[in-house]
Amino acid sequence: MSKESNFVTHLECSLTGKKYEKNKIHGLSEEGKPLLVRYNLKKMGEIISREDIGKNSEPGFWRYSFMLPVEKKENRISLGEVITPLIKLEEAVKKFNFNSTVHIKDEGLLPTSSFKARGLAMAVSMAKQLNLKHLAIPTNGNAGAALAAYATKASIKSTVFCPDDTPEINIREIERLGADTYMVNGLINECGKIVLEGKEKAGWFDVSTLKEPYRIEGKKTMGLELAEQLNWKLPDVIFYPTGGGTGLIGMWKAFNELLELGWIKDRLPRMVAVQAEGCAPIYKAWSEGKEFAPLWENAKTVAAGIRVPIAVGDFLIIRAVNESNGFSISVTDEEIISARDEVSKTEGTLLCPEGAATFSAFKKSLNSGIISKDESVVLFNCATGLKYPLPEVSNFIDKTKPIDYKVF
Ligand SMILES: *Cc1c(COP(=O)(O)O)cnc(C)c1O
Repeated sequence: MSKESNFVTHLECSLTGKKYEKNKIHGLSEEGKPLLVRYNLKKMGEIISREDIGKNSEPGFWRYSFMLPVEKKENRISLGEVITPLIKLEEAVKKFNFNSTVHIKDEGLLPTSSFKARGLAMAVSMAKQLNLKHLAIPTNGNAGAALAAYATKASIKSTVFCPDDTPEINIREIERLGADTYMVNGLINECGKIVLEGKEKAGWFDVSTLKEPYRIEGKKTMGLELAEQLNWKLPDVIFYPTGGGTGLIGMWKAFNELLELGWIKDRLPRMVAVQAEGCAPIYKAWSEGKEFAPLWENAKTVAAGIRVPIAVGDFLIIRAVNESNGFSISVTDEEIISARDEVSKTEGTLLCPEGAATFSAFKKSLNSGIISKDESVVLFNCATGLKYPLPEVSNFIDKTKPIDYKVF
């Protein structure tokens, strides 16, 4: 296969299956639902084997380019992507007499320190391929930073809207990385409205979660990476902090593509959509046996990345959870903070609140028996813990006074 082609056949409406042409600019489908990229997996499987992946010298997730939509190598925007580590939890799980393993996939090591780099690298690379000149996004912080970084690297203009209570460091980071950055006195869905309205009036392209087809392909690489890292044996359960749900939907897509390729054989992991009690539209809809999740009023949680009151991919998240025999669960802010402190002080890994939510959800699920002590588990830490407010340290030494060494 030449390096200048790929296996994309077409795009498809995730609700109706209606087909759309590749190599065209697409947002949502005519029905207002996300579009999914489809590949000729049969042909791919005849040309590429899973052993070939290791021979590929592309950085990080770009090693899976044959399963991604970017055609020309020169359009792949790279900022030094890495394969993110799987860290085995030890002290923090000892007390549960857990028979299996719990790993954290630490996504904080990606460019701009969050897994949003995966999706936005793909969206921006495709924007370059399709010759788009101006991208706009609503964000709770991390998506904005990733867009700003990749768009700047691609010499594409970016405009970012975030709630005015987004973690301060995120807002400053976005602006430093070259995006025109605006704070809005509203939540992410209200920022999304501004981006939508501006499509015609300001002339930008909307790269909101799932409103263009390629961020999900970027997030899909989490599933591909996990499979390869675990030697093509997937874990029994994956806990994923769910906002817009791109990662959960993307991983589920990845696993099904790998299954079709015959590169994995076992049953697929149970997918768990973790939400915060103060913003749990998916958890509520799933619990009530519904397929769509209406707007969650007065959304509030310390886990900014999952403060998403309404998700355009709601039915895709719920479908993946159900198809995988998984479940949804919510945790309180107190549980999130205490989980963060517990893991950082026993494991030496500082989770972001969203990542901490998955640890808390894991504990709750084990206690309630929804998961067993024999199931292998992967938790997602989606960003560095350093971007979020941390408790103050008050210990102080006055160097001019005698020091009482007995206190140490
Ligand atoms: C965006 C984000 C999430 C949610 O990811 P989705 O795939 O959109 O559900 C979780 N945690 C962090 C840190 C994020 O930035």
